[in-house]
Amino acid sequence: MDFLKNSSSEENGRGPVGENETENQGNESTIKYSEYLKVVNILEGEMKGIKGFIEILPVGIMIVDEDKNIVHINRSLEKKIKKSKRKVIGKKGGEGLGCYNSQNNPCGEGRLCETCPLKNTVESVLKTGVPIYDMEVNPRFIIDDVVTSFWLRITVSSIIIENKKYAFIIMEDIDNEKRNIQLENEVTESEKKLIELMRYDHKRNEFFANVTHEFKTPLNIILSTIQLLNDMNTENKAFLKYNNIMRQNCYRLLKLINNLIDIARIESGFFDINLKNQNIVAIVEDTTLSTVEYARMKGIKLVFDTDIEERIIACDAEKIERIILNLLSNAIKYTKDNGNIHVHLYEKDHRLILSVKDSGIGIPPEMASEIFKIFRQVDTSFRRNNEGSGIGLFIVKTIVKLHGGNLKVKSQVNQGSEFIIEFPIRVICTEEETYEAYSTYEHNKEKSTIEFSNIK
Ligand code: ADP
Repeated sequence: MDFLKNSSSEENGRGPVGENETENQGNESTIKYSEYLKVVNILEGEMKGIKGFIEILPVGIMIVDEDKNIVHINRSLEKKIKKSKRKVIGKKGGEGLGCYNSQNNPCGEGRLCETCPLKNTVESVLKTGVPIYDMEVNPRFIIDDVVTSFWLRITVSSIIIENKKYAFIIMEDIDNEKRNIQLENEVTESEKKLIELMRYDHKRNEFFANVTHEFKTPLNIILSTIQLLNDMNTENKAFLKYNNIMRQNCYRLLKLINNLIDIARIESGFFDINLKNQNIVAIVEDTTLSTVEYARMKGIKLVFDTDIEERIIACDAEKIERIILNLLSNAIKYTKDNGNIHVHLYEKDHRLILSVKDSGIGIPPEMASEIFKIFRQVDTSFRRNNEGSGIGLFIVKTIVKLHGGNLKVKSQVNQGSEFIIEFPIRVICTEEETYEAYSTYEHNKEKSTIEFSNIK
């Protein structure tokens, strides 16, 4: 009895599983337990060399006789099906293992048993004596009253003991392996979808950039025509008034289109800056002064102040202009009549600081970081007087980052806001010249007209 003594639950009174189960009371369809013991004795004789080995194998082992009654299961299988040997020995394979299909039918007689791969494999091996290797099956068992399905890789071989045939079944638990393969497939599938989405997104951005660009051509023609009509009808006041409204709204459209083009460029990674060594003080001053008239129209006092006369840094003048125009148009938009705006340039800790401070409506603390995200706006009643799209600061932040700088806001509701940009003071070295003077860059007045087109 050595073969069982090592492991069997009924011999040592405790088993790895099923300790509290009631004993098999003898099922008519199963062979008697004592008969099983005889078979095991014989098996033991036959399998002397490997008895302990079978027991400790990490794969499940089951031996059934020609009637497919279980003669032996090893410890691994006991653990898997959570039943002790004593509970299953002598029972039909499916019944012993807890096959879901054997619940209401005797094992092998259910509707689904005909196609049971485990049963069919065992039958085939017992009949032909030809082993079957590595067959993957996915049976459903009832374990601890729960229907559980897992993957097994089975190899079945026949053995003859005292002229009787037995099927020797090795059951390898490949549930994790299968789950991993399924997970890998899911990951691959998700990756494919992501790549497809990115491609689609890229195409959409490209289309978006092209279309928005196309909007500009007819709009520019309309603008030129408006200008032409303006020159032709200088006397008619009503005409001039409506012509002006048309022009103003064309500029608003142009501003929106320019912003949309930039967003498309940023999102597709094509938004670039053209760095040149230039006098940033002059760029900031010229751009600020070009907007004084808009501030004056609202009775706002706009002051430009600098601690430094000249500072050459590597920057993109057009983009710096864009930053100033956006910050100033916001400052004018969100500052009530007769307020103040202060533009200040100074240096601190080897950084160039640009501050645009207004005495406007301010920004609630919870929105202070939100306003730099695309399409975010502080929804106040004041906003309704000045149209906006929530794009400007997102573009400003992008430009500042591309210059290696950073942007922050300090604000208090009803007190005002201060937008502070820190630029690194650095130049680029080119072979031809060390810097290009700002004088080569001309501020284009139309840019201010476009940027300030939505200020009422
Ligand atoms: P837009 O002004 O076109 O809506 P922006 O991205 O330039 O878009 O600004 C986002 C939001 O930040 C604005 O809608 C406004 O609510 C708030 N904001 C920006 N600048 C100021 C400012 N100087 N004072 C008060 N609120 C501001």
